[in-house]
Amino acid sequence: MQITPTYWSRRLFIQSLSAATAGLLLRPLAANATPGGLDPKITDIVRATIGIDTHNHIDVPLLSEELPGPDIALASEMQKSGLSAICMTFAVDYVKLTYEGQAYERFLTGLKAMDEVLQKNAMTRCLNTADILKAHKSGQPTVIQSVEGGHFLEGKVDRLQLAYDRGLRHLGLLHDHDASTPLGDIFTEPPRWGGLTKFGASVIRESERLGILVDLAHADDNTTNGALKVATKPVIITHTGLNTRLGNNPAMAKMMLPRLISKSQAKIVASQGGVIGVWTHLADNAQQMADNIKAMVDVVGIDHVAIGTDTKLTTPYHSPKDHFEQHDKNKQVHPAVINGSTKEPRKSNHQHRPSGETTTNSLWPPLTKGGASGFYYELVAALLKAGYDQKAIGKIGGGNYLRVFDLATAKQA
Ligand SMILES: [Zn+2]
Repeated sequence: MQITPTYWSRRLFIQSLSAATAGLLLRPLAANATPGGLDPKITDIVRATIGIDTHNHIDVPLLSEELPGPDIALASEMQKSGLSAICMTFAVDYVKLTYEGQAYERFLTGLKAMDEVLQKNAMTRCLNTADILKAHKSGQPTVIQSVEGGHFLEGKVDRLQLAYDRGLRHLGLLHDHDASTPLGDIFTEPPRWGGLTKFGASVIRESERLGILVDLAHADDNTTNGALKVATKPVIITHTGLNTRLGNNPAMAKMMLPRLISKSQAKIVASQGGVIGVWTHLADNAQQMADNIKAMVDVVGIDHVAIGTDTKLTTPYHSPKDHFEQHDKNKQVHPAVINGSTKEPRKSNHQHRPSGETTTNSLWPPLTKGGASGFYYELVAALLKAGYDQKAIGKIGGGNYLRVFDLATAKQA
């Protein structure tokens, strides 16, 4: 796919950015959203930029008998974080899927559970760029509905229409385990489908037709490159890091290596207009994450990097019935699972992290003066220290995501 300059500079997007800048003056902050003692430069940037976590797991029940599930403090955690939006994601393949229709049932139940969460938190899903800008301007945290893995499709591309009608705007093609009708090769499995499958290609085409952003996280390079040939719009890989940035924990690094991207592959994605989200894994604090972001920016440029924490903003939910099971005991565990759903791997792999259930806002000890500030405040402080100005932080923090989201979701003129 070739990205032409006109393609890049859609009028709406330019309007979006000016509106975001104007937000500095217009966006009122909730009284509890300005952590005391913080450098005003940090709070100004948090307010002026649209911080978006492009991959945040919100745990909800996936079994209908467990609805509505526990109360989830989504709005207050978002206010604390300083983020304007999260891509609120869930996956249906944490348990082994054993019968046809199960993935779809779990998907529909997950959406229903998320409806409840949003209603109780007086929040709504953003369906387009204008919705995100409006939410940011009013200081109202918001979400973009996302799902990780096309398992719910079960080979039926027409289910995307229903998903779209239910508010889905961001689709991760793959997750840890193959869907019953596979979409492509997963980077933590031996390749077996020859890259993107025909069905995977049809899902990309239908997502583009409907207005759903395609996320290639968990795809191996061959699948990603196949997807880039099919896609006519830029894609995102929401949660990864450079395979040269291995952190300080060799056991964790070994586990994460298949999930990291090479410099040459990152350049291929960026050259097609794509965006790569840097996650929190392999970083022990916000400064290390900022350094990992900087390393990615040095490879692909400031217009192609985003934040994709792969963490949980709210308390992990453990189903009493739905015991977490790995499909294979020797298999690697998904990092987001390590960050909340299973205690044992987290203990062994996250020795440097605080004990207890970590959430996005409690992932790291605060670096900033005044302590107890949320995730995006910490990251903005670290990005400032890494040498980025407000404009650059705005791009990394959410502007780059907004660009590809807008291209994916805007209705064609
Ligand atoms: Zn993932």
